[in-house]
Parts: sequence; structure tokens; C-alpha cells
Amino acid sequence: MRLTGEAGGVILKRNKKIVLLAHCILNVNAKVYGLATVPAGCKQIVTGLLSSGFGIIQLPCVEQSCFGINRWGQVKNQLNFPGFRSKCRSLLKPIVEQVLDFSENGYEIAAVIGVDGSPTCGVNYTCTGNWGGEIGEGFELPAKIASLDILNEAGVMMDILQEMLLETGVSVRFIAVDESNPEACFLNL
Ligand code: SF4
Repeated sequence: MRLTGEAGGVILKRNKKIVLLAHCILNVNAKVYGLATVPAGCKQIVTGLLSSGFGIIQLPCVEQSCFGINRWGQVKNQLNFPGFRSKCRSLLKPIVEQVLDFSENGYEIAAVIGVDGSPTCGVNYTCTGNWGGEIGEGFELPAKIASLDILNEAGVMMDILQEMLLETGVSVRFIAVDESNPEACFLNL
């Protein structure tokens, strides 16, 4: 027990507002090679959220957990298999429990903030295609590249997170960052 800070003071300093943020917005090192647009993390989004009074829970990077930092970029239909979904569930379980605890105690879970285009963390759209197998000459690489497309649905982890939050009865908005226009993500918060 500490009798300083909030406990010893008159004013309750915390404002009880929280967002759940995709891992790589805080730590760009988790991204597939070639996709980092900043050296460390998206400063405007992180400092903007803190300045706007939001505490931040960092979501897991399930792709790195399953496939490591040297993975190739993948599409949603490759990742949408039982083992990956079950890994999402197990990594999200302690986070959903923490969210439920906050929610039951009057905290506002303002949003889940994902990364559009990601097969795992997309919110409004993800990616699809006949992608997989061997690459290189003799393995129909041009046809595989030509099959890549945008799919207007959430990535695998965001699907699972929505399911788990529904199961707990906590209602949270899902939005996505646009890393080329970071300020836009605060407009609806
Ligand atoms: S899986 Fe999610 S957290 Fe990991 S790099 Fe992709 S978008 Fe970022």
C-alpha cells in the first residue's frame, strides 16, 4: 500500500479511458521486413493518445509469435486456420480478462485500434490471394502476385478479439490507424 499519489491526494488523477492498440504501432520492429515507415513506433499516434488522456494496452503481434521476425508477408486465408486462431485466443485471453476487469469497474474501453490491410490486425480491410507454397521460377509466382487483392473484412486476430469481447459482454468500437495520416485516428475518439 502507498499513501502517496492518488491514494494520499484529494484528486483522483486517472481518467479511466483506455484503448487497445496494435502491437506494431508502439513497436514497429514487429512488422514484416520492408513495411516499417518509422524507426521505432508511430510517435504521433502514441503521444496523441496519451495527450488525449487514453491509457494504452498493447495487443500482441500474433504473426511474430507464430512465425518469427523473419517471416514473409502473408494473406488472411493463409492465417485463417485452427492453430493460428487458437494462438490468437490464448494470447488475447489475459488482455480480454484485463479489459473485463476495467469495464466492470467503470473504466471506458474507448476503442480497439488496428492496422488496415494486415491479415491479422486489419479492421476495415485485409488482404487475400492465392498466396503460398514455393516462390521463384517454375512456381507460378506472377500468377500468385496477380491474385493478391484487398478483402473488405477484418484480419484474423481482430475477428477473434471481436468474438471474445462479445463473449464477455464488453462492447468496444474497432477502428484502424492510417499511418500516413496518424492524426485521423483521433477524429472519432
Ligand atoms: S500482425 Fe499486427 S501487430 Fe504484428 S506486425 Fe502485423 S499489423 Fe503489426
